[in-house]
Amino acid sequence: MLNSSLLQLGSALRAKTISSVELTQLYLDRINALNPALNAYITTNFESSLAQARAADTLLASDKAQPLTGIPIAQKDIFCAKGWRTTCGSRMLENFIAPYDAHVIEQFNNAGAVNLGKTNMDEFAMGSSNETSHFGAVKNPWDRNAVPGGSSGGAACAVAARLCAAATGTDTGGSIRQPAALCGISGIKPTYGTVSRYGMIAFASSLDQAGPMARGAEDLALMLNVMTGFDERDSTSLQRDKEDYARDLSKPLAGLRIGLPKEFFAEGLSQDVASCVNEAIAEYKKLGATIVDISLPNSRLAVPVYYVLAPAEASSNLSRYDGVRYGYRAPEYTDLADMYEKSRAQGFGAEVKRRIMIGTYVLSHGYYDAYYLQAQKIRRLIAQDFENAFKQCDVIMGPTSPSTAFDLGSKGDDPVQMYLSDIYTIAVNLAGLPGMSIPAGFGSNGRPVGLQIIGNYFKEAQMLNVAHQYQLATDHHGRAPQNIEL
Ligand code: GLN
Repeated sequence: MLNSSLLQLGSALRAKTISSVELTQLYLDRINALNPALNAYITTNFESSLAQARAADTLLASDKAQPLTGIPIAQKDIFCAKGWRTTCGSRMLENFIAPYDAHVIEQFNNAGAVNLGKTNMDEFAMGSSNETSHFGAVKNPWDRNAVPGGSSGGAACAVAARLCAAATGTDTGGSIRQPAALCGISGIKPTYGTVSRYGMIAFASSLDQAGPMARGAEDLALMLNVMTGFDERDSTSLQRDKEDYARDLSKPLAGLRIGLPKEFFAEGLSQDVASCVNEAIAEYKKLGATIVDISLPNSRLAVPVYYVLAPAEASSNLSRYDGVRYGYRAPEYTDLADMYEKSRAQGFGAEVKRRIMIGTYVLSHGYYDAYYLQAQKIRRLIAQDFENAFKQCDVIMGPTSPSTAFDLGSKGDDPVQMYLSDIYTIAVNLAGLPGMSIPAGFGSNGRPVGLQIIGNYFKEAQMLNVAHQYQLATDHHGRAPQNIEL
């Protein structure tokens, strides 16, 4: 069961080979056994999960089941889920019980899926290693001395360690793709505006986008079918016809044009990652694809541009945490201003404070034109680079991350080194394009390597097809870490 795809689990549930209660209990037992060491989940609520499983079994008995009915899914702790503690990895929201469901949670509930719990993440999704979480670091199930990546590190760990059938994540600069790569699983960040941000705690609103994380592309398609769709409660939600993301999975790849940006294979890429990515490209050639050399000349500016724009938006979004309406309030203070100051000083961690300060600075009078406005202009040029590239190719490929998972604690003192983990992913968010990561083998240290696939706007179905055909020909995505008691 633990290695079954979502399609297989759905068939087993509908054929009554297993009930949703049994399947949910199987995962809850694993969470009990493995989560104390891995720390993938911040909050579980076994009673609530089992109640959802019982309701799913009733649906399954009545033939009203949908593809994900009865399937246990892990939800990133950035999504408000009614009655569930929703922390966003922060002390600020340590005791916050969400009074309503995020759009994404609502969609899974309507599909009859079971919420297994809320997964660990970097505080307010700021980080690439899950080490900024107020609830402690997450271990990489392939090597417990390594980080799982971030910010959706708990989700990636939970999928890789078989502590859920699939999971949700969010990606502002790489937070679905980078942890997927570092934990040897698959993940897709769809085109900006495809999944509603309603009830998803905001970090940088013009970049934030939710997406699924699972073992293979076929599972991602089923998850995306549930998560997407117009929602009038998010002003950036796109009004498009509902699509079936699994519709093209089995198309052959003959004639596919793959663009390889020279900037993604330059200095800074580790040998381990380069050789796995090159092997994957060779496999694609066997599958009938042709290779086109392309250039994304402004991509070198993506990290600096992102670290102006994302903190600017964060400084504004996080101003709501003032200790007044909800969230952490300092126990002692002298007056209102002192209460704001102490609540924010004690409620936020160091990385979040760093971003708020940078963001406030770049938006301040006198610096706005020099930093914020300039960054917006370069953002446009970065999007233009992709537009030009997609005139020559159908998809772009390269590494997801410059190295395999790094050791816990090894980059904590050097924020710039940490920021560079997302050097290949961030441009995609700045352009609003869809991007995904799929497993492409292992480095010499035994840690997983991810292949990044970038598509043109709304080409998710094509990207999933490209990923699925590779996954039919290889078995990297089917491998499981040792010592997870399968
Ligand atoms: N690692 C990047 C950051 O720290 C991206 C995070 C994300 O995508 N949420 O901002």
